Amino acid sequence: MSRVITIASGKGGTGKTTITANLGVALVQLGREVIILDADIEMANLELVLGMEGKELTLHDVLKGYASIRDVTYEGPGGVRVVPAGINLETLKGVDPEKLKDVLSELFYSAEILLIDAPAGLGKDALSAISAGEELLLVVNPDISSLSDALKTKIIGKKLGCKVLGAVLNRAEFSNSEITVDEISVILDLPILATIPEDKNVRISTVYGEPLLLKYPDSPASIAIKKLAATLVGEVFTEEIKEEKGLKKLIKGLLGMG
Ligand code: ADP
Ligand code: MG
Repeated sequence: MSRVITIASGKGGTGKTTITANLGVALVQLGREVIILDADIEMANLELVLGMEGKELTLHDVLKGYASIRDVTYEGPGGVRVVPAGINLETLKGVDPEKLKDVLSELFYSAEILLIDAPAGLGKDALSAISAGEELLLVVNPDISSLSDALKTKIIGKKLGCKVLGAVLNRAEFSNSEITVDEISVILDLPILATIPEDKNVRISTVYGEPLLLKYPDSPASIAIKKLAATLVGEVFTEEIKEEKGLKKLIKGLLGMG
């Protein structure tokens, strides 16, 4: 049985799609079988971030009853499997988002972790994405409108029976004028599971249609997302150990022991 985690925020543009795509890759790197699903059926862009646009069959066809979800689960970059929503507005007609939970159950034994990229807002499509997940991860930016929307999403998530894991602070700039991590945690009454910095490589990797984690694995946002992945599966992030190994190798090399 899979863990089903919805990534939502209320507000648009907080970084849900970026985090879903890269968290998926990071969890695969930790040895997990992962499927990521784009539930933003009107404004799909998970496939753009992953360079996977143009698939003939997508979630649109599944939600219209024309295809099975297995037919639209594709191999993506970095070993992550992907269910694209479809960016074609023509195929959007007749799509029923409320079917999402049912169709998702067919994937329960296909992967250890299912990540659902939720749409913004609290419309029918967003509520379907939130109720399809057992666990909820909120993505927030350090601004009041994002926090207030996240709070509403948290309340709705709880009403829909989700376990709210916590929040991820994205696009943190660490300036003095910014709301602090502790303040955000108090406002949301949730743990902050990760702080992802503003990172120009996020946008560059999107232009290339490659996940940040694969294109710029050592970029600050990549490191933060890898830490988040480790936290979610209860592992300790091992980048420091990797660095230590590198250092040991260097010292050994210098001493002629390599
Ligand atoms: P959402 O899915 O919540 O609408 P996206 O993941 O599409 O948000 O991100 C919105 C925009 O913000 C995109 O242009 C993306 O490249 C940019 N972005 C997201 N996270 C970061 C970050 N940590 N640093 C810089 N740009 C970011
Ligand atoms: Mg999105």
